[in-house]
Amino acid sequence: MSSDESTEAGDAQREFVEQWRDPAYNCFSSGHKFCRNVCPVMQVTRNENHSPTAFHANIVAMEQGGLTVADVAEDYVHCTQCGACELRCPNTLMAGDFYRARTRTVDVVKAMRALAVESGLEQPNWKRWVEATVDRKNEPVLDVPVSQENVAKWAEGLGLEAGGETILFVDCEAAFYRTSLPRAVALILRAGGVEFGLMREQWCCGGPAAEMGYVAQSREFAEHNVADWRAIGARRIITLDPHDYITFTEDYPRYFGPAYEFEIVHITELVAELVRDGKLQLSKPIERVATYHDPCRLNKRKGIHQSPREILRAIPGLDFRDVDHVTQWAYCSGAGAGLSIERPELTRAISGQRLDRAAQLDVDLLVSACVWSERPLTEAGEHREPRIEVRDLMELVAESAGLEVTP
Ligand code: SF4
Ligand code: SF4
Repeated sequence: MSSDESTEAGDAQREFVEQWRDPAYNCFSSGHKFCRNVCPVMQVTRNENHSPTAFHANIVAMEQGGLTVADVAEDYVHCTQCGACELRCPNTLMAGDFYRARTRTVDVVKAMRALAVESGLEQPNWKRWVEATVDRKNEPVLDVPVSQENVAKWAEGLGLEAGGETILFVDCEAAFYRTSLPRAVALILRAGGVEFGLMREQWCCGGPAAEMGYVAQSREFAEHNVADWRAIGARRIITLDPHDYITFTEDYPRYFGPAYEFEIVHITELVAELVRDGKLQLSKPIERVATYHDPCRLNKRKGIHQSPREILRAIPGLDFRDVDHVTQWAYCSGAGAGLSIERPELTRAISGQRLDRAAQLDVDLLVSACVWSERPLTEAGEHREPRIEVRDLMELVAESAGLEVTP
């Protein structure tokens, strides 16, 4: 590192510490560590360096000159950005009531990862993943060919046009790997009388890049997508994936400020409304015993937990067994924030624990509303005896509405 570069890195660290020192002291001075009980990563690694408490305490140590970003960057890989710790934190519970403040561990982790990237401290698999995303404009989906040319291939034969006020945004995993899911969603929307179109050129939402600390790349994707929405006159964006939903409702408004004029809807909210209003009839019974997997970014991060339950309860024949604790205790799949890319063994362990909890309810089906959770959950479900199948909520909706989803 040249002396200019090391001065820049020092400045970036100072700026970071200044921004986050108050919340860090807020946590450090109370230090009750309630958050550890709900942290999915802590539950499998039992390593204090991976705890939300440590994520804040490190900043105190950095301010006092005891640690640098180089000492701690790798610890911050161990977070799925599920938000459970924020809800469990008494600082959120107490101050939140009075001041509407929430302990922002997720933002602290994102900011530390961004500082690490800015300081040249990159995680090898994230680096490769983000480079491939920049290169192909969509996320590399393991072994599936990904390119701009086939991002809308899932819609072949459905007669969907580009443009219009309402746009369906299909995340990279669904667009390239789980194509029957967006096909089911398109049929559901059509059956419910919702008019919608596709983007002319859809790039990755940029959320995962931001979660891994690659903010400049994330902004580049966001700027392209928003320019496309504006050019086609879009006003409302329907998302299937909770990760897109949170990126469009949290990262994009930060990037674009008050000029960001779009209504962002998650499919579970829209479908619950269609069912409630009688525009979509769920009449075909599904005789299964099921529980629901709350995606972290919908439930704990955005407070959406009623609409998926409303849909499940409307499906005839379905024996729906809910989990005991719906909010901060809802258990993560381990797939978020790049953990499955940099530490796949931890994602496997966390998904395994999620399936253990489902098994306690004697179900044969775990219903997910997050396509990124589906792979690790499915794998964990297949390795159990008796087996627990994992299906997406929208596939059940299509089936119960009598819609035939052709591959
Ligand atoms: S994040 Fe909240 S719950 Fe966890 S140690 Fe800090 S103050 Fe306590
Ligand atoms: S956001 Fe989730 S994974 Fe990250 S520290 Fe908090 S509880 Fe743990």
